[in-house]
Amino acid sequence: MAVILDGKSLANLIKEDLKKQVARLKEQGITPGLAAILVGEGEGSVTYVNSKQRACEKLGIYSQVHELSEDTTQEELTNLIINLNHQAHIHGILVQLPLPGHIDKYAVMDRIHKLKDVDGFRRYNQSRLYRGEDCFEPCTPKGILTLLDYYKIPIEGKHVVIVGRSDIIGKPLYHMMLKRNATITQCHSRTADLAGYTRQADILVAAIGKPRYITKDMVREGAVVIDVGINRAYETLDGHKKIVGDVDFDNVKNIASHITPVPYGVGPMTIVSLIQNTLKAAHIHSDLQKRQIGLASIQ
Ligand code: NDP
Repeated sequence: MAVILDGKSLANLIKEDLKKQVARLKEQGITPGLAAILVGEGEGSVTYVNSKQRACEKLGIYSQVHELSEDTTQEELTNLIINLNHQAHIHGILVQLPLPGHIDKYAVMDRIHKLKDVDGFRRYNQSRLYRGEDCFEPCTPKGILTLLDYYKIPIEGKHVVIVGRSDIIGKPLYHMMLKRNATITQCHSRTADLAGYTRQADILVAAIGKPRYITKDMVREGAVVIDVGINRAYETLDGHKKIVGDVDFDNVKNIASHITPVPYGVGPMTIVSLIQNTLKAAHIHSDLQKRQIGLASIQ
């Protein structure tokens, strides 16, 4: 039976430390602030943004949510971002993905000030990540690495197989694992013989978005299995609906050495990473303020 990588407990532990950091910043007259922008009412997106806001408020972080209608134009969204870039009490800005099809997400992300880009999706942060330089690391991959480190799971020299190549999970995780000297195989929907790759993994990361897609026969005995998937309203045989991951947890847990549950695995680690990034931004802004350097002078 695998060791359960308990993201919820670890996130709570980290939050205790973050609470102290927030208190210290407040003593210096800085209340960390996060602005989230939601366009449309995608079921998952609303839930994500609400849980991020709740987590911020519990830690004493100022948070605001801008809920925009589905037909918001790219110009309106860009104007809001520019406005938030100029607001000194907002240290981090996130635009919840996915955006409606008529909006160019890359153009929008690139308008977020590089020192407020707490999701790490702007081209500037992506290129720094690619080069292995200090940057705002995307929250889900950052949370995965924090979890692996906490459980002292070695990464260097290991074969990491990532199933999924999205901009927010698969691709950044590739670079972050590379920086940690792993050997990486990246799989996706066009990969031929997926199981042939997943069975070679020392660390297998599933970020697919398909309920229980990774079955026991696709996993090597003793592998570490990280399940990123959040599949809502998955109907069980007895007709109940619940959230499940991309991994067939009940069976895979019997052969893996370590495994994340869904919920309470990677999800809470993503949120805690967002808060870490927001505090990192607040520290950077505070430092610039002390040196009397305005954010607007930094492009
Ligand atoms: P995307 O839909 O953007 O990407 C899914 C990836 O999986 C794509 O690269 C796709 O390949 C690949 N894929 C799809 N089907 C297959 C298949 N049959 N075999 C192999 N690869 C396949 O999703 P996201 O990356 O945004 O999210 C992935 C999952 O993680 C979702 O369930 C999402 O809800 C969840 N999530 C969880 C978070 C957390 O904190 N735990 C945070 C964010 C998301 P291709 O590129 O070829 O299409």
